[in-house]
Amino acid sequence: MLFSSPGCVLIINAGSSSLKFALYRAAAEPTLVLAGKFDRVHLADGHFSWHDVATGQTHRRVLQLPDHAACLPILTELVETHAGSGELLAIGHRVVHGGPRLVEPARVTPALLAELERCRNFAPLHVPVQLMILEAFGRVLPRVPQVACFDTAFHAHMPAVAHILPIPRRFYEQGVRRYGFHGLSYTYLMEELRRIADPDAASGRIVLAHLGNGASMAAVSGGQSVDTTMGFTPAAGLVMSTRPGDLDPGLVSYLHDVEGMSFDEFHRMINGQSGLLGISETSSDVRDLLLHEETDPRAAEALAVFCYQARKWIGALAAAMEGLDTLVFSGGIGENSPVIRTRVCEGLEFMGIALDPARNVANAPVISADHARVTVRVIPTDEEKLIARQTCRMLCDESKL
Ligand code: ADP
Repeated sequence: MLFSSPGCVLIINAGSSSLKFALYRAAAEPTLVLAGKFDRVHLADGHFSWHDVATGQTHRRVLQLPDHAACLPILTELVETHAGSGELLAIGHRVVHGGPRLVEPARVTPALLAELERCRNFAPLHVPVQLMILEAFGRVLPRVPQVACFDTAFHAHMPAVAHILPIPRRFYEQGVRRYGFHGLSYTYLMEELRRIADPDAASGRIVLAHLGNGASMAAVSGGQSVDTTMGFTPAAGLVMSTRPGDLDPGLVSYLHDVEGMSFDEFHRMINGQSGLLGISETSSDVRDLLLHEETDPRAAEALAVFCYQARKWIGALAAAMEGLDTLVFSGGIGENSPVIRTRVCEGLEFMGIALDPARNVANAPVISADHARVTVRVIPTDEEKLIARQTCRMLCDESKL
């Protein structure tokens, strides 16, 4: 891949109250120049921190960030001083929801913004923020192309049995279906698997387990996502740090009748008060819970439910593919916690899963035992790098047109 001039791409990953960014030197394999985060947007004491790869230094500031737009001047100044002699070639964005039609990385155009506008209700905490940021960059840096990369895209071709929700059909026409998320992480993991494993591995039957604060799994067969644990929203599927995963739909009317719980309260409960935090009543963080599980039965139960549900889902996704060849652990928990990986895999020997304890403790790239039928891997994910790759590829493809 050739670029006409040395330059950088800026990667933006905006959440409801945060904005993560990373600057990469553009290339077929982009290299990181700096990365950072604005936190606590909308609050009086916003945090801004960034890490300079060249010097190894991390810089921190507390500042007022009334909204996401307030981050832009600070960010553009930082980029100007660090893009070096090269210019800013493009900005790549993580977009959480692409709805039924935005299923590939795409140049940001008025038509794309209009389509994204139609996705607003699919992810009301994220899409409006992302629209605002795309439009703001368009105003501040009108000559810099922007690329949108969608978290839902990886699952866009799941078979009908995996994406139809069993509710009245008319909702399907409105786009109410299972979408799945973490698609940028899954795309990165598949690219890594193709790079590090033998060629057959990536075309086999794979469960990708992205276990972080948000957690999901995907069943990938023949290189295609065939099912995933998250659904219409990222609250479904596995137990997460503060989200419950799959819930009985009858709970909504029960809580409404008995507690007078409003929809807003229900929304807050399933997005911020459930999962590991809800069960333990103390922490959403796996490290804290591991530290206290011997003395606090609630912490032990939270971890047990997390691992049990994860194990159950591996079985379900393997059934969807009629077998399993590779299991990949990723995300903060999946990459770093041998004990959680052991507990998730316990009892799955019947499926050919067996860990090698020494490899597992070392977070080795392959942690399964030599005799095991299923290869179990640990692959660190990197969603920002994937967006940088997709943005650079798009620049290259367009320059060939
Ligand atoms: P996010 O979804 O916000 O990107 P991460 O992928 O960073 O989250 O994952 C955060 C989770 O990873 C937390 O529950 C944290 O406790 C867990 N984690 C990180 N390091 C370890 C570790 N060494 N052992 C156990 N859990 C860990």
